[in-house]
Amino acid sequence: MRVIEIFQSKQGEGLWAGVRSTFIRTIGCNLRCSFCDTTYASWRPEEGEDLAVEEIVGRAVLLGNRHVVLTGGEPMLYSELIPLTEMLAERKLKITVETAGTIHLPVKCDLMSISPKLSNSTPYDPDSFVRLHETNRDRIDVVRRLVSEYPYQLKFVVDQPEDLLEIEEYLHRLGDFEKERVLLMPMSTDVTTMRLKAEWIVAYAQPRGYRYCPRMQLEWYGDRRGT
Ligand code: SF4
Repeated sequence: MRVIEIFQSKQGEGLWAGVRSTFIRTIGCNLRCSFCDTTYASWRPEEGEDLAVEEIVGRAVLLGNRHVVLTGGEPMLYSELIPLTEMLAERKLKITVETAGTIHLPVKCDLMSISPKLSNSTPYDPDSFVRLHETNRDRIDVVRRLVSEYPYQLKFVVDQPEDLLEIEEYLHRLGDFEKERVLLMPMSTDVTTMRLKAEWIVAYAQPRGYRYCPRMQLEWYGDRRGT
């Protein structure tokens, strides 16, 4: 499978924020989100290197962390994710898969981190990107299946207050979910914007039993690759 980077850092987002982890970042994505902060991994399939699953496991184990995060891009594009997660699980490693929830694979995983994409993710141009994105982004059938099969978190990127209504509609369609696994994360690439949005997102999330989800990597490292 094609991998652009394997590195160690602290998980910056979600239920396992702060946990020292090895990140395996695959190349390629079936979406083109307007706010994508990993375009080097999502939109440039010629980059990275083709690695055998055994090689990836070897490099990940060398870093010595108990937690491994499979991220992208969209890692679920690769069927090799199935043997990769099986081999990592055999080594008793804790596995998070970060996905937009548009593709299902029967992987081994301790936390399925699902980030369904709202209409605020739609790219502005070109038309080919807009069509690709809108065709693929809303696969609530896949998200339902992942939620029913794995320990999960549902992480929504929130830009404007009106996004909250769209999230409510999405959750209503989804049906069965645990409120405390719903994470509302501000769209931001800088700490100042994140803190400003935090005020109204927290005020909305708390009385409903949802969680505010800061992007701690911005606080720790700024908007930098490899973190
Ligand atoms: S799903 Fe994630 S990796 Fe893919 S384009 Fe959107 S933000 Fe980028």
